Amino acid sequence: MKIRSRPSPNHGPRPAPGRIDLLVLHYTGMPTAAAALDRMCDAARRAWHAGRGFWAGATNINDRSVGIELANPGHEHGYRAFPEAQLTSLEQLCRAILARHPISPGRVLGHSDVAPERKQDPGELFPWPRLAQAGIGLWPDFTAPVTGPVGTDAVLAAQRDLARIGYDTRQSGRLDTTTTAVITAFQRHWRPGNCDGALDAETARHIAIRAKAAGASAI
Ligand SMILES: [Zn+2]
Repeated sequence: MKIRSRPSPNHGPRPAPGRIDLLVLHYTGMPTAAAALDRMCDAARRAWHAGRGFWAGATNINDRSVGIELANPGHEHGYRAFPEAQLTSLEQLCRAILARHPISPGRVLGHSDVAPERKQDPGELFPWPRLAQAGIGLWPDFTAPVTGPVGTDAVLAAQRDLARIGYDTRQSGRLDTTTTAVITAFQRHWRPGNCDGALDAETARHIAIRAKAAGASAI
């Protein structure tokens, strides 16, 4: 892979001791890659990749993460599949980053995972299972049978499991705005066939299976 360096003035120092334990994938959401590069290098703008976010109790996502921006027009400008060459380069880049930092598979995330109410990227066309096959991120066996605790309210059970996975979820027992946004973010990553924020049976099952994997892999 050929890497071209294009330093940006928009950065800050890592707070000591500078442990990096999250990898966050984005799309640029701009019509062209050149326009996205110009914006990220524009001294008049902030280019920190994560903004306000949350994962597994942490809110300082920029301090503890590496972010990767993938050129893609995004949902606003003509969302499209990520081409093969881009994914091959991404896999190489991720492997190099994962070799340098203690980032567990369950902490390779999309921007929408850490900011469900604000962000949609990298979106439902991003091939998470393929990356997991390449050793990057977590993709549990969603065909595994799962049995929920009998008599537990489905919404409350899903909220508990989503929090266990790492999402910023209140245990309200209701499908409030935040919960619907978190379910949509979960679907974009783990059940991309239908990202409507509804807690259908398949989504509930996927949430339970993913939560089980979270318990096993020390998020
Ligand atoms: Zn983003």
